[in-house]
Amino acid sequence: MPLVYLMRRESFCASHRLHTDLLSDDENRRLFGKCNSPNGHGHNYVLEVSLRGEPDLKTGLLMNLTELKHILQEVILSRVDHRHLNLDVAEFSKTNPTTENLAIVFWRMLEEKISKKLLYEVRVFETEKNSAYYRGE
Ligand SMILES: [Zn+2]
Repeated sequence: MPLVYLMRRESFCASHRLHTDLLSDDENRRLFGKCNSPNGHGHNYVLEVSLRGEPDLKTGLLMNLTELKHILQEVILSRVDHRHLNLDVAEFSKTNPTTENLAIVFWRMLEEKISKKLLYEVRVFETEKNSAYYRGE
């Protein structure tokens, strides 16, 4: 059976502060630049979630996209949109909300709702040019 990939794109706005206690304040400023701003700053993020599998023989669908839309809304967007990631999202209270970590944390959130067999990739764009993706490896 042919394997197909299905992707849904969503966007959300959130602020964050990138900072690690393992570095000095000066090193944090140099490494994270604007993202180290003491009160945080915002990004217009894009989230892309890809599934992989064989389409259903009867329907031709891998997954109902309306269902996927509802899962993304419930599991991720309702928790991060227009929030401060460090302060409002428990998963980032101790984990630096870098694009890399967003991809990993979002994957873990989705794993509880989407079978591991189907979930293929979670990609997060922090800007148009920078993105990170995670495939559960
Ligand atoms: Zn930033």
